[in-house]
Parts: sequence; structure tokens; C-alpha cells
Amino acid sequence: MIKKQNTILTHAGSKPAEYHGAVNVPPHRMSTIVFNTYEEFEKVPNVPFSYGRAGTPTSAAFEEAIAKIEGAYKSVATCSGLSAILVALLAFAKQGDHILLTDNCYGPGRKSCEEILRKFGVEVEYFPPMIGGDVAKLFQPNTKLVFMEAPGSLTFEVQDIGAITEAARHAGIKTAIDNSWGTPLFFRPIDLGIDVSVMAATKYIAGHSDVMLGVVSTNEEAWKPVKRAALMLGLCGGSEELYLGTRGLRTLHVRLPHHQKSALDIAAWLQQQPQVKRLLHPAFPSCPGHENWKKYYTGSTGTFGIILHETRREKIANMLDGMEIFRMGFSWGGFESLLFPEQPKPIRTAQKWDETGFSLRLHIGLEDAEDLKADLADGLKRLGS
Ligand SMILES: *Cc1c(COP(=O)(O)O)cnc(C)c1O
Repeated sequence: MIKKQNTILTHAGSKPAEYHGAVNVPPHRMSTIVFNTYEEFEKVPNVPFSYGRAGTPTSAAFEEAIAKIEGAYKSVATCSGLSAILVALLAFAKQGDHILLTDNCYGPGRKSCEEILRKFGVEVEYFPPMIGGDVAKLFQPNTKLVFMEAPGSLTFEVQDIGAITEAARHAGIKTAIDNSWGTPLFFRPIDLGIDVSVMAATKYIAGHSDVMLGVVSTNEEAWKPVKRAALMLGLCGGSEELYLGTRGLRTLHVRLPHHQKSALDIAAWLQQQPQVKRLLHPAFPSCPGHENWKKYYTGSTGTFGIILHETRREKIANMLDGMEIFRMGFSWGGFESLLFPEQPKPIRTAQKWDETGFSLRLHIGLEDAEDLKADLADGLKRLGS
């Protein structure tokens, strides 16, 4: 039977017969794993589990489930989304190589490139997010990887993922994408021919704002270097986090459509408000790359941006300090709503971010959408006129 995503999410990685009927594989607190015989010992590393860092039944269950919903060959879990990005980069880039990243990629990932990859002799270049197939003009003989993220962190442009992937494949260059926003429920990178899909499982996958976890999924060809990089960097998820990541998957297909519906409703309303200069939600035409979102994605999630006309600090503080439901925080993807003041301008280098208004990122949680709208309406009023 070919199963639908919802059914896969509900059961993937589950092995009740092996765990006294427990529906999720329990957290295995393992560093040492002992062997029964010398013969068994001699088989290492060709045994399922040899040492905690290299994998446990708990990480295997999570990875197996993620690989299934990604349509990937295999997946490897890491301790955070940021470390998952690093695994993808370090799997393919070495001294003297050139890599390309989208200019709107996740800021801390970009910092890791500047502070680690450059230090080890990797040439890092950023491309304008809307470049499309013209990315080929930036390819050099030593280009090894094109790293995408859609929609981009903070500014939400959606790249022409297909055109960029096609250009890279044609040139024999590996491709990777940060798919934390869409998740495989709304976008399947491996199906489109992208070699590596990275997710901060911290966000929608775990979904409850209490877990740090990353995961990297690949096609068959990209698997060995990626798994090797994760191993050699010593990255692994904690047992509790992996367990909670798998548990999060069980409700992803229930939570995401709810985030989607409320966010679409609130975004449409925000667009009408006089204090709002511009809406940056991939499902609306005012977002750069909206056409690409329509082409590649089957849904949208709860995270988007707005630009306010107001820029005066005291007015912005007045709005943010008085929120009743929305809180300020460096994340998204949990059950609770967040409102985050962002500063995209200083980060960008390939394509200037020249919006003069004040940028806010919203994450629409699972609260009642009318309550959230009322909180935002009061907040916008506090901006004054
Ligand atoms: C949060 C985030 C990450 C990093 O995830 P952590 O688990 O916080 O390290 C990576 N990519 C995107 C797009 C993110 O929003």
C-alpha cells in the first residue's frame, strides 16, 4: 500500500513489538553499548549500534521517520538546526573550494561560514535570492555546493528553487536547501532533485518550543559524505530531544494546517491595516518569489513578515511591550505566537535590503486567530499616528 504523508507521519519509526507495545521508541540513554561476544565486537562498525554518538534506537527511529516523509535515502540527526547546516556545508566543501549561499539564508549559518569555513580556506559567496537560473554565471571551476533557503530567513523571498537546482545539476554541483519553514509536508526537496535537505527540527518538527534538534536528509549519492561529516564533527541528538522530535512528527500534519489557516487569515487582515506598509508572506503577491512559492509548495506555514511605516524606537517599543499574547523570541514553529523585531539590512551583501520601514517577523501559533488579531490591532493602535 502506498501511504499518504499523514499516515506516514503517524507511524513512521514506530516499533511497538520491540518495546513492549510502546508506540514511540523510548529514549535510550546510551553512551556505552556492550557486546556479548568478541565476534560481535569484531563486526564494528557493521553493527546497528556500537556507541551512543554514532546512533541509538532512538536516533534511528527519528531518522527513519524523517527519511520517510522527506522521500530521502537516509537522514542523520544532529544537536541543532545550525549544526545540521554545518554538516551539509562541510560534507562538500574543503580548502580551496567555492560555495554559494543565498543572501537571505539563516543568519547564524552565515556567521558559521564567515567564522569557520573561511578560516579553513573555503571561498564563500552569497547570491541574490531572486537570481534563478542565472546563478550559473557565478559558478567557478571549484564551486562545490549551492545552498538555498526558501522562504529566506527574515525577508521571506522564495527562490526559483527548480531553476537553481537545474543549473547546479547541469554543472555537476551539489545542492542543499534549508527546509525548516515548509517541512516535507509542504515542499519535498529530494523529489525536485536537490541532494540535501536540512531542517531545524527545533521549529515545526518538534513544535513545542522545548527542543533543540537538527536533521539532514539526502539522496543516495550524497549520503556518505553527509553521514561522515556528522560523525566526524561529533554531532548527535540527545535521547530526550530525539524522542520529542519523533513525538512532534505525530501531530505535524494537524498543527501545520492550523498554523497555515490562522496565518493566512491574519496576514490578509494585516495587509489592510494603515500602519502596515508591506506584507512578506509567500502566499501573497507582495512577497518576492510568490510565483515560485505557488510553483513548488503545496502549503504555507505560520511564519511571515510585515514592514511597518513607523520606525521610531519609542513607538515600536510601545507596541511590542504591550502585547498580551504575542511574545518576543528568537524562534518560531512552536505552539505559541511570537512577534520578533528584525534587522535584515546589516546582514545582506549580495542584494541590498533597502526597505526603510521597520521589519517584524510573526509566528502565528495555535491560539484563537481572532484573539491574535485583537492583540495585534491593539498593538498597531499603540504605534499611534
Ligand atoms: C532556527 C533556524 C535554524 C537553526 O536551528 P537551531 O535548532 O536553532 O540551531 C536553521 N535554519 C532556519 C531557517 C531557522 O529558522
